[in-house]
Amino acid sequence: MVQLKTDTQIEAMREAGRVVAQVLTSVQKAAAVGVSLRELDGTAREILREAGATSPFFNYRPHFAPTPFPAVICASVNDAIVHGIPTDYRLRDGDLVSIDAGATLDGWVGDSAVSFTVGRARPADTLLIDAAFAALDAGIAAARVGNRIGDIAHAIGTVCRDAGYGIMEDFGGHGVGRTMHEDPSVPNEGPAGRGMPLRHGMVIAIEPMLIGSGRDDFRPDPDGWTLRTTDGSRAAHAEHTVAVTDSGPRILTAL
Ligand code: MG
Ligand code: MG
Repeated sequence: MVQLKTDTQIEAMREAGRVVAQVLTSVQKAAAVGVSLRELDGTAREILREAGATSPFFNYRPHFAPTPFPAVICASVNDAIVHGIPTDYRLRDGDLVSIDAGATLDGWVGDSAVSFTVGRARPADTLLIDAAFAALDAGIAAARVGNRIGDIAHAIGTVCRDAGYGIMEDFGGHGVGRTMHEDPSVPNEGPAGRGMPLRHGMVIAIEPMLIGSGRDDFRPDPDGWTLRTTDGSRAAHAEHTVAVTDSGPRILTAL
């Protein structure tokens, strides 16, 4: 069931979202050749602690997971699409990094992700990352009262497919509120004009996940968490938590 948020509750979620933005900004700033993913997780923990927030990722255990998630960020490098566990892997020149982070503040959750390169970027990676953010922007622009969930899905899918990229099937956005994953689900592809009507007070995470080769398939790592492309091609992920309001979409996870 979709829980609509009051304007006061949306303001509280904005504060949680701001913390997520601070985490992602700090992590991206710290990410450089030679820095380990575990160190980036430490950077994120420090920002959450300073803000008086906790992580909805830490110890999270959805039905598919063999173990509770051990970190406060997902760090997915190169052919890892999403859900990467921060390990002792040290970033190398030209790596494509996707960082997903959440914050819980005063009982409200924010969820956002960015992708970027470290060192000298491959041109193909820059295009892929730009497309992920363009797909996110298109999805956000469609998150309007009067539209339906399918309009968001269609907007995202169109950007991805027109650019020739693959889309992770069965993974997409979701409602956000007191917990990280609520109704409704927000697919990254689908027909326009279908699905639940968007209403003032709906808060959703919109999160395109693009596969560079144009193929859609992926596989889990032996760790049970990390999802990788099957062909070794690189992937990018971009996400914001967005409130649907009578005055248009409002990004809650901006700085
Ligand atoms: Mg996320
Ligand atoms: Mg999400």
